[in-house]
Amino acid sequence: MPTNPYAWLDESLATIHRADWYRSVQTIHGRPGATVVLAGQEVINFGSNDYLGLAGDMRLIAAAITAIAEFGTSSTGSRLLSGHRELHRELEEAIASTKQTEDALVFSSGYLANLGTITALVGKRDLILSDQYNHSSLKNGAILSGAAVVEYPHCDLAVLKTQLSQQRQNYRRCLILTDTVFSMDGDLCPMPALLDLADEFNCMLLVDEAHATGVLGKTGAGCVEHFGCTGKQLIQIGTLSKALGSLGGYVAGSSTLIDFLRNRAPTWIYTTGLSPADTAAALAAIKIVQQEPQRRAQLWENVHYLKNLLEQQLPNLKLLRSESPILCFQLSSATDALKAGKQLRDAGIFAPAIRPPTVPTSRIRISLMATHEAAHIEKLVAVLKDIC
Ligand SMILES: *Cc1c(COP(=O)(O)O)cnc(C)c1O
Repeated sequence: MPTNPYAWLDESLATIHRADWYRSVQTIHGRPGATVVLAGQEVINFGSNDYLGLAGDMRLIAAAITAIAEFGTSSTGSRLLSGHRELHRELEEAIASTKQTEDALVFSSGYLANLGTITALVGKRDLILSDQYNHSSLKNGAILSGAAVVEYPHCDLAVLKTQLSQQRQNYRRCLILTDTVFSMDGDLCPMPALLDLADEFNCMLLVDEAHATGVLGKTGAGCVEHFGCTGKQLIQIGTLSKALGSLGGYVAGSSTLIDFLRNRAPTWIYTTGLSPADTAAALAAIKIVQQEPQRRAQLWENVHYLKNLLEQQLPNLKLLRSESPILCFQLSSATDALKAGKQLRDAGIFAPAIRPPTVPTSRIRISLMATHEAAHIEKLVAVLKDIC
């Protein structure tokens, strides 16, 4: 018998190190923004999800401070017991109004919104079809639900259709899961075609708008709006922690769906309500998204500026197809990706290397913000030219 039941942890970590998959945290000092101080060095920040630059905005900060002064630091209980405040309802109404859905429900994070919603909607007599590149929260929600899970190749509608024709009739309910903006690639799901398939095979469709909320669509409502699918029957999940600069997640959909989730989603029922500060900050952010479309316009101007510069000056860079502020270029190994990340960092650019197991192939991931200046983008391209 081995003498130490924990010895495998060291061995496992050693394996992670050998593959160059090892990861650790890095400290950011001060407020978030287009430039940040990272481990003592000022860098241009291409590694944040704060697409509209709202996480450091004085109006969100003031809203959070006011809410703390009025309601305290904690909501002190689950929403169904002592944790519900008027602020939560205001936020849920603002989300439903932006999304043009009947209702919405906020969770403590986007991850928990996915886990709770998926496990409430399907169980062991049901089928989940899930895009291979979906976010971890969708994948783990699917596993936790106990449903039969079948992955389809990334955005491959032909395979999805075949799987549906072969398997749909063997199950009670069927749920299709997809990111709308794929978080580690930057491309979009084929939403109108997915809605058609869901219709044809009597399936529910759950879309994760984490990287689309505040970013895509005429009013910033997300990819559903971008594709003209507003008002269609579907289940929309999102986060308050990316373009909205706060913390928390949401589900938006029919009032029946939301009412059902309030009674059946374990990660909503058995956890403390969103804190007053996070709730108020998210509410302030939604108002800014509605009132300042120029922020979103500036973000997209930055995206087009970077894409044009890269096309002109680095035509050989292996850019992944992107229709979002997330731009990735591929490298042949985790070691190469780490090396490129380090070279960028030494030159004052923060753009993280993303490696397996997060993604199948190693890459550098660049995410743009509305608050990046032309000079920031030009510096990125100049440094990339040096190191490539
Ligand atoms: C970030 C992200 C989440 C999780 O959201 P949090 O609020 O950070 O927990 C869920 N889905 C996708 C696609 C994401 O990118």
